[in-house]
Amino acid sequence: MRTPLRIAIVGYGTGGQAAAVLLSRDGHRVEVFERAAELGPVGAGFLLQPVGQAVLWDMGLLDAACMHGARIASLYGETATGRAVMDMRYAELDARLFGLGLQRGALFQLLDAAWTEHRVLHRGHRIVDVDVERGALVDGDGRRHSGFDLVIVADGAASVLRSRVAAAALDRPYPWGAQWCLAPMGDWASADVLKQRYIRARRMAGMLPVGTRPDDPVPRLSFFWSVPVGELDRVDVDREAWRRDVAEVWPEALARLDGIDAPNALAQARYRDTTHRHWHRGRAVLLGDAAHAMSPQLGQGVNMALLDAQALRDALRAEAMVPTALQRYERERRAHLSAYHFWSRALTPLFQSERDAAARIRDLTFHPLSRLPVARGMMLRVLTGTRRGWLSTFRLPRGFADVLATLPVARHEAVRAPVDARRDAAVAID
Ligand SMILES: Cc1cc2nc3c(=O)[nH]c(=O)nc-3n(C[C@H](O)[C@H](O)[C@H](O)COP(=O)(O)OP(=O)(O)OC[C@H]3O[C@@H](n4cnc5c(N)ncnc54)[C@H](O)[C@@H]3O)c2cc1C
Repeated sequence: MRTPLRIAIVGYGTGGQAAAVLLSRDGHRVEVFERAAELGPVGAGFLLQPVGQAVLWDMGLLDAACMHGARIASLYGETATGRAVMDMRYAELDARLFGLGLQRGALFQLLDAAWTEHRVLHRGHRIVDVDVERGALVDGDGRRHSGFDLVIVADGAASVLRSRVAAAALDRPYPWGAQWCLAPMGDWASADVLKQRYIRARRMAGMLPVGTRPDDPVPRLSFFWSVPVGELDRVDVDREAWRRDVAEVWPEALARLDGIDAPNALAQARYRDTTHRHWHRGRAVLLGDAAHAMSPQLGQGVNMALLDAQALRDALRAEAMVPTALQRYERERRAHLSAYHFWSRALTPLFQSERDAAARIRDLTFHPLSRLPVARGMMLRVLTGTRRGWLSTFRLPRGFADVLATLPVARHEAVRAPVDARRDAAVAID
């Protein structure tokens, strides 16, 4: 883009952080407004897919991410009685690909350290209004921040600002959410597998190796426990009943939570399903979960937020006028995303609901179906983030898959974790 823009970003989550790095590096003057007074990630860990890894590669951060993250070769789900429900292996799509289990804190710190140019970060600034025509923001104390050529609204799944930019075509909460935390990896055997266990769709636990953080050498697992939203709100949780429920699904996973005040110390997650007819209006544009919140069933949200930031940077490079650049950004990202929204909406009730009959069909059909070459290819494309729309392929950058073979591999020694794993878990997601 010929002249540097003055850009405001609301929200310093993954999408806001990536946009701040990429746009500052292009010479734009970026200011971020984040409501939290203390900066830091919310939640435990996540799986970075090849499409998200490619964005970190573009930013020069993939080596560092690989030094901390855990390489994940497959996703394996089974019933509590040991019946395989899914077994998806990256190598069956391409032997060079893998998922990268990462702690949220690791990605947060890498992106934060990478934002060095013209860094202006207003913490403790909750934005309550956006003037999309004039490019201005109003914070919770009534202060007006104005004169922006572009306002990027990246305030997450529970965005209160997205409706200022575009009316939602769909915006509803999911009836089920999750509790999650980090636990020490210790001698956990499945070091390269995202493993899940289910009892029908009523109970689901997940364990994802997520490696270390720059400020913490203890390799960890990200534990996920599915719960109805009503349970998340309960103050009188029966701790022993909770532990019995987890033990029924997966006693080995419960054993990893020793030393953690579960479930009290676990972070909580609620999800939304949101779509918009447009992603931009006037000088404002939506990015990340604010644009396309979905259930984490497909594990794509971080990846899509990173891709959004990269696509916005590229559109601003390619187009001389901001409105045309925003149109290009929206077109590009919608073309990629549409099928993910559909699949996450369709699959979530099969894993988080009281639909026992649907879960039984899942248990009987998923695994055999996933062994059929066409279905397997389609599932792996969705898993890796490389499905574009319904029928096309999202191309990874030229040379990227070969680069993966040359990246450093973290050797995560089993270090005994301090008992204060609670520190990582005690922040609630909204
Ligand atoms: C249990 C669970 C597991 C998941 N697993 C995966 C996974 O394996 N892989 C994956 O890719 N994705 C995963 N996701 C999804 C992923 O976490 C999100 O899609 C991603 O974090 C979205 O990034 P974002 O930047 O859009 O929003 P967020 O990361 O939510 O950031 C929003 C930021 O905006 C700030 N903010 C909010 N309101 C305001 C305001 N009014 N003013 C100023 N600041 C504000 C917030 O404090 C926050 O810092 C998972 C999600 C959950 C809940």
